[in-house]
Amino acid sequence: MLASFQYLNSCIQNQSYGILDFRAKKYSKIRSYCVRCKSSLDPTLDEEKDGKRKFKILIAGGGIGGLVLALAAKHRGFEVEVFEKDLSLVRGEGQHRGPIQLMSSALAVLEAIDENVAKQIMAAGCVTGNRTNGFVDGVSGEWFTKFDLSSPAVSRGLPITQVICRMELQDILVNAVGLDIVRNNSEVVDFIEEPSKVTVILEDGRQYHGDVLVGADGIWSNVRTKLFGRREAKYSNYTCYSGITKLIPPYIDSVGYRVFLGLNQYFAALDIGNGNMQWFAFHKQPPMSTDTPGGKKKLLEEKFGKWCDEVIALIQETPESMILQREIYDRDMICSWGIGRVALLGDAAHPLQPNLGQGGCMAIEDCYQLIDELDQVPNTGSDAQISDAICLALRQYAKKRIRRVGIVHAATRMASKMLAMYQPCIQLKTGPLAHHSSLQITYPAFRMGQAFLQYLLPKFMIWMIAGHGLSLKSQRDREREAKQT
Ligand SMILES: Cc1cc2nc3c(=O)[nH]c(=O)nc-3n(C[C@H](O)[C@H](O)[C@H](O)COP(=O)(O)OP(=O)(O)OC[C@H]3O[C@@H](n4cnc5c(N)ncnc54)[C@H](O)[C@@H]3O)c2cc1C
Repeated sequence: MLASFQYLNSCIQNQSYGILDFRAKKYSKIRSYCVRCKSSLDPTLDEEKDGKRKFKILIAGGGIGGLVLALAAKHRGFEVEVFEKDLSLVRGEGQHRGPIQLMSSALAVLEAIDENVAKQIMAAGCVTGNRTNGFVDGVSGEWFTKFDLSSPAVSRGLPITQVICRMELQDILVNAVGLDIVRNNSEVVDFIEEPSKVTVILEDGRQYHGDVLVGADGIWSNVRTKLFGRREAKYSNYTCYSGITKLIPPYIDSVGYRVFLGLNQYFAALDIGNGNMQWFAFHKQPPMSTDTPGGKKKLLEEKFGKWCDEVIALIQETPESMILQREIYDRDMICSWGIGRVALLGDAAHPLQPNLGQGGCMAIEDCYQLIDELDQVPNTGSDAQISDAICLALRQYAKKRIRRVGIVHAATRMASKMLAMYQPCIQLKTGPLAHHSSLQITYPAFRMGQAFLQYLLPKFMIWMIAGHGLSLKSQRDREREAKQT
């Protein structure tokens, strides 16, 4: 864990991600690049200007990643088709369709892809980044560390972090992509790659041909299994219970979200707008643990019963039928996200634990990079040369994304390990002081850890917000700039 810390810190210190830029000056360049992109999104213009053949992209999975990729592809003039198993299975919150946090970096990428769609998403969402957010002690409710999600975004001219209902996000994206492109009830079960094309095979036997296949089919990806073989996902040791309730805490205008920490369990409470609060209770327990006979609510009341009033109230105010349970899995990072004409994106490539709310944001960032690489594939040359260029573009995409995603992946695993060790006070169960039940002795290591996190976390959050940075610049754009100077 120490090694992960050192790695993370050195990346932040050196600003050595290759895809990041902390300076507002540089970011404004990126923004102007985005504006230029937007103005060149007319496919006919692109084709005429570049003389490019715009090939066909097949996408397995119509989740956040698949839909944003389809939108970006459509705007760059690619022919695109999305195969979605079941559009009603919006991942994350089961039947309640709870919201997802989109950080500034992901919102900026959405703006760069389609300003109008980004506006609709932001209008439907609830801004949380302009309030205080951070970690508190679960029992006392005292702040452990706070993040500033606002000033780093404002100073770079980025949209501010917000949450949006997953169903609304899906509706906006599906409408923008078009139901002629998103094929519902279409489960991809296999694919065949040939030198000049790739063919997807659906469960009912239908087959579709294209030039590229992107597996955006989530953590249990069939495309990934076919590429790299079946591997078990890793259980995080945590089960997540979640609920939505009308209870509005008195501090709602000043606090966006708080993560309450405790030994082997943590609890996140966030404002999701329209007078609703959402909460996630993460509890360390073996996989496939069955509910207590009293149900989930009773179990949570037992587990969090000694925590601060707000946690208890949120659980108590949520009806049993509104509490969902899901086990949290991720996978080890892999250094190759595809083979030949096939590439993986989002959770299919790099499923993350949700403790930093980054999986969807990373999927959105992937989309921009992938389309940007494919957009640079030249039309000239033999079929074999074009085929090589397509494969190279897909490998370049992964190469440019792996470092940033790898850091976030390491951070989510580290956060999970640290949470399992969170214990601010020494428990005096034996010895001469044991009868002093009110005596609280803080672990020295806890204070050190807190100071370290107070130093590192804000920097890490800025790095996440500033986000996709220089990787948004296409090679073509860099060359154009070099010529001008
Ligand atoms: C409790 C929880 C909270 C989270 N909170 C946040 C957050 O606040 N912010 C954030 O950024 N991320 C968050 N995440 C992570 C985020 O939900 C995922 O990282 C994100 O949904 C990944 O998007 P995706 O498109 O790659 O995959 P998915 O969203 O899983 O989409 C995959 C899609 O593919 C479809 N599919 C699957 N198999 C096939 C097939 N064979 N053929 C066709 N279609 C198929 C599925 O039906 C699905 O629609 C959270 C995750 C959890 C579990």
